[in-house]
Amino acid sequence: MRSLITQSKCLVVKVGSTLVTCEGGRGGLALDFIADLTRQISVLHEEGRRILLVSSGAIAAGLQRLGWSHRPKAMHSLQAAAAVGQMGLIHAYEIAFAKHNLTAAQILLTHDDLADRTRHQNARATLQTLMELGVTPIINENDTVATDEIKFGDNDTLGAMVANLVSANALVILTDQPGLYSRDPRLHPEATLIVEGRADDPQYESMAGGTGSHISKGGMITKVYAAQRAAVSGAHTLIVGGREPDALLRAMHGEPMGTLLFAKVSGDTK
Ligand code: GLU
Repeated sequence: MRSLITQSKCLVVKVGSTLVTCEGGRGGLALDFIADLTRQISVLHEEGRRILLVSSGAIAAGLQRLGWSHRPKAMHSLQAAAAVGQMGLIHAYEIAFAKHNLTAAQILLTHDDLADRTRHQNARATLQTLMELGVTPIINENDTVATDEIKFGDNDTLGAMVANLVSANALVILTDQPGLYSRDPRLHPEATLIVEGRADDPQYESMAGGTGSHISKGGMITKVYAAQRAAVSGAHTLIVGGREPDALLRAMHGEPMGTLLFAKVSGDTK
């Protein structure tokens, strides 16, 4: 089944706050991680793949720029932090991409944008044009006008919606866990890693119950929902530990890492 991933020509890579920030979001952006992720993306780009990067980290970067030591509770304060931090986030990526002679673009989207037919078509046309130009779109939720990902998802849902939007072959979710476990491994040490299964298999929802770390709201459940959503347009989802050396490259080159939740494949009648 891993060939479903290795053969992907168009992929959405989603990276969450826990990976792109330091000290639980209080230490600003993890610039080393961003540089290393960009290096891996440049290799995949060189292989002729089209990559769209969905990255959180705006709020965490904003907390540091504003000198706030804790994530505020008030939604408007979080939105303000995101507005400040989005500049730092995209600046960090721009510098990292330029080192590999790659051009990046900033795209801010909301779920409502993608539900509206005209806006959906506009977003799709822009993303496709950027990819034809060899530019890597770096996508985040537009936190000024929408609060869905701040409240629930840490951009997992947005990653799936982008995969639907551009009919991507794969959604790769880089996270701070090695993948999806049969039970929450922090509470149940006997839990086993799920290697692969159908994205629409309902057992994964119950396995993924519970929330994530204190800086991001997106636990495993939002990743399972994202896999289900991505599968609707035929994209396979790989949930993989982003701190492993060369995680993205090794996963894309077929190493059996993380959890593959695949969409319906041809010949599969279920
Ligand atoms: N769009 C938000 C960000 O980039 C989502 C992540 C969060 O809630 O921390 O920071």
